[in-house]
Amino acid sequence: MSKSVGCADDSQSSIRELERKVFDYFTLLQLGKSLISIHNMQDLAHALVSSVYDASDAENVALLIYDIDSKVYEYKDSIGFPKGALDGLRFVGEEGLLWRVLNGGEPFAIRDSLGHDRFETAIKRYELERLDSVLWVPLMLKNKLHGILTLGEKNDGNSYADRDLNFLSHLATQAVVAIDSVLVDQQKQRTTASLGLKMQNLSVLYDVSRALNFANDLKKTLLLILDKARGAVDAQKGSIMLLDDGKAELEIKVVRGIDPVVERQINDGEVECTKINVGEGIAGKVVKTGRYMVVDDVSTDSNFKKSDRSNVENIICIPLTTADAHIGVMNITNKKSGERFSENDIDLLIALAGQAAITINNANLYHLAITDGLTQLFINRYFRQKLEDELRRSKRYSRNLSLIMMDIDHFKTLNDTYGHQQGDDILAATARIMRNNVRETDIPCRYGGEEFAVILPETDAKDAIVLAERLRKGIENYDFSGPADEILKVTISLGIASVDKNIVGMTELIELADKAMYASKKAGRNRVTVDDTTSVATSVAAAKAVPRAKQAS
Ligand code: GH3
Ligand code: MG
Ligand code: MG
Repeated sequence: MSKSVGCADDSQSSIRELERKVFDYFTLLQLGKSLISIHNMQDLAHALVSSVYDASDAENVALLIYDIDSKVYEYKDSIGFPKGALDGLRFVGEEGLLWRVLNGGEPFAIRDSLGHDRFETAIKRYELERLDSVLWVPLMLKNKLHGILTLGEKNDGNSYADRDLNFLSHLATQAVVAIDSVLVDQQKQRTTASLGLKMQNLSVLYDVSRALNFANDLKKTLLLILDKARGAVDAQKGSIMLLDDGKAELEIKVVRGIDPVVERQINDGEVECTKINVGEGIAGKVVKTGRYMVVDDVSTDSNFKKSDRSNVENIICIPLTTADAHIGVMNITNKKSGERFSENDIDLLIALAGQAAITINNANLYHLAITDGLTQLFINRYFRQKLEDELRRSKRYSRNLSLIMMDIDHFKTLNDTYGHQQGDDILAATARIMRNNVRETDIPCRYGGEEFAVILPETDAKDAIVLAERLRKGIENYDFSGPADEILKVTISLGIASVDKNIVGMTELIELADKAMYASKKAGRNRVTVDDTTSVATSVAAAKAVPRAKQAS
C-alpha cells in the first residue's frame, strides 16, 4: 500500500489503480493461504502482525485475541514497540461505545480529526493509550469479535487512505478465518482433554466402588481406599484418621508412604499415634466442619504444628462423611510431581471420599461388632460362625483345617496378686503376641475370659503344632510389664485338633481341642498337646499330653 497520488491522465490513473488492486488481492490471497496453514495461536499472531506491518507502512502494529479461558481480549503480539511495552494488556468488551464500534466490523480511527481520543473511558480503564494506535481493525467472523488489530501512525505522517482501509478490511477477513480455526482446535483439544479426565475419574471411582463391594475387613478397606486415592492424584503419602467411639478424638488408622517399619507398626496397630482433638489442627478442623482444606505451603500455615511439618509440602484433607455424621478424614500429602493439587485432584478426592465414607462406616461398625474391645481379637460369636464356615469348606473340598485352643496358666493367681487391671493388660499383650504370630489367613479369637482360639484354614496338625509352639514360646519369652517396672512372666497351655474323617461337627472339634488343652494343663502347663484322635504325619506322635521336651521345636 502507498498513499494515493493524483494523476492528470484519468485512463492511466485507472490502469494504475487496477494494477494496485490486482497487487493487493494477490498479496491478500497469498497471506490468507499462509495464515490458514498455521495451527498455533502465537505463530499465527506473529505472522499476522508481521504481514500487516510490512504491508501498511505503520509505525507499529499490535494484535489482541480473545482468550477462551479468561474471556477477555489479550495482547498477543506486536511490532514497533519497546520490549515488554504491551505485556499484560487486556481489554474486556461487552459494553461501551468502543465495543459497539468494534462490533460494526469495519476498520475505524481511534482519534477524531483533531487528534483527541474518541473512546476516553475505555482507553483510560484498560490503558489502551499504551497501544499508541490511530487505527483499529476488528477481526470478526459470524458476528463474533475474535480479535483486534491496532495500527500506529503511518511512517510518512499521512493518514490511512480508503485503499488502506479496504486492504486491511480484506486482510481481517482472511486472518479471522485462520484465528477461528485455531480457536476451534483449542476448544476441541480442551473438550477432549476434559472428557479424558472425566473418563479417568469415573474409572477410578468405578474401581473403588467395585473393590469396596468385597471389603468387609476394616483395615483392608482403609488401605484400599488410601491406595486408590493416593494413586488417583499421584501423591507421595497419605493417611486415614477415624473418630473414636466417643467422637472426641481422631486416631490414625492407616498410613502410607512413610518409613516402612513405622508404617507397618502403625497399620498393624502395634504402636499408637498421637490422637488429635476435634477442632484441633487441619484434620481436627475438617472433621468438625465437614469441609475439606488444602494447604499449599505448610511452612506458613498456622494450623500446622512445627513437629508435623517434616517432609510435608502440600496437603489436602478431605472429610469422610456419612448421611448423618463426620466419621473421620483422609489426608493426602505431596504430589509426586511437586506441583500443587489441581481442581481435578480435589474434585476426584471428594468424590472418592464420599463413596468411601459409607463403606468405611459399615466396615467400622462391622469391625466393632465382631471384635473384642480389650484384645482386638474376634469375639466368640464370630469365632463360631467362621469355624462353621471353614468346616463346611474343608468337608466340601477335602481341605485341612486345624483349631488351637489356649488358656493362660494360673491367671487367677496373676489377677489376685496384681489386680484385675494388670490382668487386663496381660490379656491385651497376649492377644497382641497372638495377632503378630498368626498368618493373614488364620483367625485369632477371644473364646472367653482368658481363653483364646485360633482357626487355621488349610493347615494340618503338623503345621498347627509349629504355630502353637511359636505362640507358646512367644508368650513364655515375653517380658510383661508389671507394677513399678517389675517384669511378669506368663505361660499358656494349648490344645490342637485337626479335621479328619471322624470329625462330624463344630462342637466336636472344639471339644477335642479343649480336651487336648486340658491335657496340657494336667501334664504341667506351658505346653502343646495334639488331640489323640487327630492323625499327625510327623515325628511328633499324637499324644494325650506330650511333655514339652518331646514337642516339635
Ligand atoms: P489354669 O492354669 O488352670 O487355667 O488356672 P487359672 O487360674 O488360669 O484358672 P482359670 O482359667 O479357671 O481362671 C480364669 C481366671 O481368669 C478367672 C477370672 O477371674 C479371670 N478372668 C477371666 N476373664 C478376665 C478378664 O477379662 N480380665 C481379667 N483381669 N481376668 C479375667
Ligand atoms: Mg487359665
Ligand atoms: Mg480359663
